[in-house]
Amino acid sequence: MATLFERVFKGSDEMVERAVKSLEEVSARYSDDTAVAFPDTAYYLPCIYAMTGEKVTNVGELKNIMGWIQSQMTREKKTHDIFTSGIGTACAAEVIEACKYVDGQTPYDHAPLWGHCTDAEVRELGVPLVTGDIPGFVVLIGSAPSDEEAVATVKSYQTKSIFVFLVGGIIDQVTRMGVQTGFNVRLVPEGYDLWAVSHVISVAVRAALIFGAITPGDYDGIREYTFKRVNAMVNAYEPVDDMTVACGAGAISYGFPVVTNDDNDMWRVPMSLIVQPDTTKFVETSLEARRIKLKVTNVDIPVNYANAFEGEIIRRGDMQIEADGSRKDCLELVRTRELPEVEDHKITLIGPDFDEFEVGAKINLATIVEVAGKKMQTDFESVFERKFHAYINCIEGVMHTGQRDMIRIRVSKSAYEAGFRAKHLGEVLYAKVKGEFDAVVDKCQVTVVTDPEKVTALRKEANEVFDKRDARLLSLTDETVDQFYTCIMCQAFSPSHVCIVTPERLGLCGAVSWLDAKATNELDPSGPCQVVPKTGVIDENLGKWEAVNEAVAKYSQGALDNISLYSIMEDPMTSCGCFECICGIEPFSNGVVIVNREHTGMTPLGMTFSEMASMTGGGVQTPGFMGHGKHFIASKKFMKAEGGVQRIVWLPKALKDQVADKLNATAKELYGIEDFTSMIGDETVAEDPETLVEFLSGVGHPALGLDPLM
Ligand code: SF4
Ligand code: ZN
Repeated sequence: MATLFERVFKGSDEMVERAVKSLEEVSARYSDDTAVAFPDTAYYLPCIYAMTGEKVTNVGELKNIMGWIQSQMTREKKTHDIFTSGIGTACAAEVIEACKYVDGQTPYDHAPLWGHCTDAEVRELGVPLVTGDIPGFVVLIGSAPSDEEAVATVKSYQTKSIFVFLVGGIIDQVTRMGVQTGFNVRLVPEGYDLWAVSHVISVAVRAALIFGAITPGDYDGIREYTFKRVNAMVNAYEPVDDMTVACGAGAISYGFPVVTNDDNDMWRVPMSLIVQPDTTKFVETSLEARRIKLKVTNVDIPVNYANAFEGEIIRRGDMQIEADGSRKDCLELVRTRELPEVEDHKITLIGPDFDEFEVGAKINLATIVEVAGKKMQTDFESVFERKFHAYINCIEGVMHTGQRDMIRIRVSKSAYEAGFRAKHLGEVLYAKVKGEFDAVVDKCQVTVVTDPEKVTALRKEANEVFDKRDARLLSLTDETVDQFYTCIMCQAFSPSHVCIVTPERLGLCGAVSWLDAKATNELDPSGPCQVVPKTGVIDENLGKWEAVNEAVAKYSQGALDNISLYSIMEDPMTSCGCFECICGIEPFSNGVVIVNREHTGMTPLGMTFSEMASMTGGGVQTPGFMGHGKHFIASKKFMKAEGGVQRIVWLPKALKDQVADKLNATAKELYGIEDFTSMIGDETVAEDPETLVEFLSGVGHPALGLDPLM
């Protein structure tokens, strides 16, 4: 019987042979200067770029890289050889996959296959990874013993919020069983061929490049980062061929344990290569091997509850009932009450239950969560309420969008058939609010109302509450508060990054406002959000305070000691990588271009979102580039030191529409500009600097007359 060494070597040779064959086929059809690129990434062929620093962009360069890959296949029969051969195998796999993308081909536009994940998708994972909402990744290779078991294993990982990638026969197994797949449900069928596994490694190494600011080509640095910070695992179903063994060696050298039922005494490696003959125990064994701790929420409802279901989509034809705030009165509201007014865990339904409506009915719906606690503050009401979206979305078979009195909730037929009813919405909200905010919520009760007249009356009351809250939010400015907060949640991935969160500058992920940070600090005083007193003003225009600098120095462990909250040019705030938008200066127009993660097209900087995003990150200051949240765009503090929002010369159309009302109000109030967004370019106007400047001159954009930025 072959030893582990022999199988790794044989498998890596086979993978290299296939890569050479793919290259020959490509060479027969294309010239050396034909482009080779995965879509929407600034990291070339990420596995190869991360390990070598080589930027492969065409067929000729792809052929050349084979020399390095073969140099990794040393054969001294030392442990070192199987690890480098394993990484070489992953890179050879990437070459085979890259051959499919030569000359702009789109090999994976056949649902459900995914192939390459974009940089935007990797960045989207930033926040859930640091909060533990995604505690890890797993890639399942091969076919499970039965379709039923394949689904059970996948669901088990999903309910533990583990992000699942599929390679090989298991893709057909879950498809046959009608399981929804896609990046949104954290279940991504990569491809049928084993080499598609390189797309998973690509995600892991890009985490190191994007969030960790590891230098491309720092071979050991990348491996150290993935080992310490990327909780990934591999499950390989028998029969496991030599190439899979070689890929497994690659996984292990990145720090990812491999669990398999292919029994062979020769190849057990403690904590790394684990034989588990019982495939129904793969989940348990894998979590143990990678030492993954899970956040558990026990919610008493008849369907699954997990983060993996947050992005699930329920189509009209699959829905049992719908609460549609644009057609019917609907709302959700948190109210603070006195302790005696609240009966803990009381769930009340007023009005008919879901059974009493016709299939497909549009219903009225109000969910009122009343909380009481000695430390509860009314300021926290909106913080809890904004979380309802995620709380309700995590129910399998229920979809939620919007907030306040503009919500839409769809309950699927399958959730209904499993027994999901109105009071279960109450159960979920109770469990989550109590679970997450127990430091301030002593008692919590939920009332679900479907009676149309009662909901209409409640909506009137709720709007008064919302108006009061808005007035309070408007009164919260950087000037009116005497403290800011740090957020260092992203340090799990970006070790020296610190966000300073102020009323007018939310965290760059868009998920942490000043009120959120305040609540987080109250709930967990030694946690990621620490108070920063607004003392020792150095320069109010730049947004510099001594206490802010001290906090940044302390929480970046000395990596940084000086930041300006209101400048993009002078000591700007750092970025981790999970920012919603990236802003960069556009020299020809003397302004800035902002692009959000969702926009995949070109910008007038000659760079896409991914390329602009790669200019900054990993907790490093990069004058001229700044990651930020969407809400910061209309802030009076946006680039205040350089002339504020007047500098914005280009935004993707969809983003512009989203921020228009607030941005126009800010431009009017600060600079007397009417209808400012009509002066800002977008992709329908220009995607290059010349056309943009022409447009800006035509409309008399204010940036053209401001002081030079550089
Ligand atoms: Fe990360 Fe900053 Fe968001 Fe905190 S506020 S989660 S540090 S991006
Ligand atoms: Zn981040």
